[in-house]
Amino acid sequence: MTEDKPLHICTPLLESVPLSKKAGFKVYIKCDNLQPTASFKIRGIGNMCQKALKKGGNHIISSSGGNAGYAAAYAAKQLGIPATIVIPGSTPEFVADNMRDVKAHVIRHGKVWDHANTYALQLAKEKEGSIVIHPFDHPDIWEGHATVIKEIKDQVPQKPDAVITCVGGGGLLCGVIEGLQSVGWMDVPVIAMETKGADSYNQAVNAGKLVTLPDITSLATCLGSLTVCQKSLDYYTQHPIHSVVVEDKHATQACLNLLDDHRMLVELACGAVLAAIYEDVIPKLQKEGKLKDNIESAVVIVCGGASMTLQALLDYKKTVGIE
Ligand SMILES: *Cc1c(COP(=O)(O)O)cnc(C)c1O
Repeated sequence: MTEDKPLHICTPLLESVPLSKKAGFKVYIKCDNLQPTASFKIRGIGNMCQKALKKGGNHIISSSGGNAGYAAAYAAKQLGIPATIVIPGSTPEFVADNMRDVKAHVIRHGKVWDHANTYALQLAKEKEGSIVIHPFDHPDIWEGHATVIKEIKDQVPQKPDAVITCVGGGGLLCGVIEGLQSVGWMDVPVIAMETKGADSYNQAVNAGKLVTLPDITSLATCLGSLTVCQKSLDYYTQHPIHSVVVEDKHATQACLNLLDDHRMLVELACGAVLAAIYEDVIPKLQKEGKLKDNIESAVVIVCGGASMTLQALLDYKKTVGIE
């Protein structure tokens, strides 16, 4: 593998018949669940690893709730260097096994990501040549994530009236905004979805400054960063962004719906994105005057996620009380 060839693939963009029927306008799904690591994360993390390797790094260290660590492990293997991944206690064992399967050294530490991250930074300090891969707060990550919009620009027949995504730490959101700006789609509004209990972005935009949540109480652990990155908050004042919070129940129902509608299994984080359509978030934003009335099309970024199984989804279904 040459160092310059991206580690991510150009994913399919589909016009979704069931989602379009539900929405009443054309809904395109950008299938980043089909990335080799099952989420969009490889875009930014692959880019960051490639750049760090060129600057002389020799060992990748990452902390994450799963998909970032998996992407870092996969990137390290593709680039032929070792990886150490520090994961919080909430990460399922099969996800840790996925990382081990791509030759990563996996360490469990702390309850939530922030704790694992502190430990990873400490390890990196002790080892020369360590490349610390932050899951969301780095310009190289955002640059890599921006490729999702560049691909969409070439795949859609018309400029969309909205792009729907989600916010964990805000890395994907920053990439989406940078992508939109680079393709000249400055006026395309972004709908930034979160779940209640992991709504660090919504609280930050309402407060006008970063807010640190005391704990993550949402089941969508992938959205569970206690604090979002400053850049994602800065973009709120520079681009039309609408922050929306849904219940875990809605995210779970959206995952079940996607499974039936498209035969695709994704994490609750991605369910939060899909809930924008399945739970009629767009009409609500239109009623509030935040989106224009005549929407012709929207793009949903199916961010994916490797930490989901059919059994886990059925367990979530029971937990949130869906009959
Ligand atoms: C990481 C991740 C998110 C959140 O992305 P941020 O860049 O942290 O905002 C959402 N969905 C999935 C599947 C993820 O892996």
